Amino acid sequence: MKVVQPSKIVCVGRNYAAHARELGNEVPKQPLLFLKPSSSLIGPDEAIVMPGASQQVEYESEIGVVIGRQARKVTAARAMEHVRGFTCANDVTARDLQKTDGQWGRAKGFDTFCPVGPRVAEDVDWTALEVIGRVNGVERQRGSVKEMIFSIPVLIEYISGIMTLEAGDLILTGTPEGVGKLAVGDLVEVEIPGIGVLRNTVRGDGAS
Ligand code: MG
Repeated sequence: MKVVQPSKIVCVGRNYAAHARELGNEVPKQPLLFLKPSSSLIGPDEAIVMPGASQQVEYESEIGVVIGRQARKVTAARAMEHVRGFTCANDVTARDLQKTDGQWGRAKGFDTFCPVGPRVAEDVDWTALEVIGRVNGVERQRGSVKEMIFSIPVLIEYISGIMTLEAGDLILTGTPEGVGKLAVGDLVEVEIPGIGVLRNTVRGDGAS
């Protein structure tokens, strides 16, 4: 079951310096934004489906921000007044298609490519949030809001200066170092201590 129903999912690329470097990219001078379609959302314990078009589907463990009150051109200083809470998210990415397409709509947009949950936590100290990614029980990623190049309030100021954020909208704040390829049968977990663990298994699309 989906724990959020956003009108849009706004994502931030390369918001951790070590992750930008691991993919051979420069650290951005301003936030790098892209969108995932709301149709890519799944809830906890639902399956991530490998599309036949990709040979390299990767997990990206991220801290998700859920908007609580419409935000349009808000300042960083007032940004957190527009936040309802925080959740675990996985920005599943077809890395091969991301490279060959140039635009990221396909690579980031397949059905099931946005697991979110298990809940939206409203009572957490966001300045201390950490995110951990595991595959089959083995830790692969660990990051903290303290390592973000652009902080959550700065992201909300930047995004809301471009597009109105509606209540329920979701921001994926970027992934730390340690992304990697998934295989059919894998169990992928995104944990934010104090919020919970988002678990999803990976399956084939039935065509292969
Ligand atoms: Mg990402």
